[in-house]
Amino acid sequence: MNLILMGPPGAGKGTQADLLVKRFGIPHVSTGDMFREAIKNGTALGLKAKSFMDAGGLVPDEVTIGIVRERLQKEDCRPGFLLDGFPRTAVQAEALRQLLDDLGIKLDAVVDIKVNRENLVKRLSGRLVCRQCGFTYNTETSPPARVGVCDRCQGEVYQRSDDVGSTVEKRLSVYEEQTAPLVDYYAKAGLLKNIDGEQEVDKVFADIMQALPVV
Ligand code: ADP
Ligand code: ADP
Ligand code: ZN
Repeated sequence: MNLILMGPPGAGKGTQADLLVKRFGIPHVSTGDMFREAIKNGTALGLKAKSFMDAGGLVPDEVTIGIVRERLQKEDCRPGFLLDGFPRTAVQAEALRQLLDDLGIKLDAVVDIKVNRENLVKRLSGRLVCRQCGFTYNTETSPPARVGVCDRCQGEVYQRSDDVGSTVEKRLSVYEEQTAPLVDYYAKAGLLKNIDGEQEVDKVFADIMQALPVV
């Protein structure tokens, strides 16, 4: 299964990706996670990405396309992959089309998760993430059992530095301007599945499963 998960920041892509990769046994390819990992490890990629992420903007296309190109050619992506947070610009979408063409891979579906802006702001401001395993919590709706400690791995649970204040607004605007137009591009390609993301996590997952083609 070769999938793309789309939707604005806070729509629940990471949460659903977790469930989908377990169901299909495919790798979760999240450009945001890859950048955060690079920053944590102090690599050259992390240095390049950090200032853009802190400002709520996008990391330059050539950097982002480079890491996805490398990742999708790894052996573990042969049975399929779940792209989360890529593509985010028209240039990235075109580069992905070219890359998949070159590799002889066909996309099975593009899942677009919709949530209104007010809820997105609430979700992002309440989001907490485990530094160790990446599991996502919410201070309001799904906090960890012990404050600051991950239920799953006992890792440290923290708030992402881009989930605060004006950076949230900035990211939502960048999404509207640069990423939302791609939804049309995939609709025209006949790949788009629209999902109502304002339901409970399990119901969103069930709707995605139902929308996916049998492969
Ligand atoms: P994204 O990867 O699209 O930015 P996340 O999966 O990280 O989104 O979710 C953003 C926040 O919203 C997190 O705090 C998460 O716990 C919460 N969340 C995710 N899905 C739902 C849902 N269906 N209903 C309510 N809150 C949700
Ligand atoms: P969210 O799903 O909450 O929007 P991500 O973890 O996907 O967050 O992305 C965090 C940040 O990483 C983005 O705001 C952006 O700076 C950078 N980033 C992630 N994916 C891309 C991409 N495809 N192109 C450019 N920048 C990206
Ligand atoms: Zn954890």
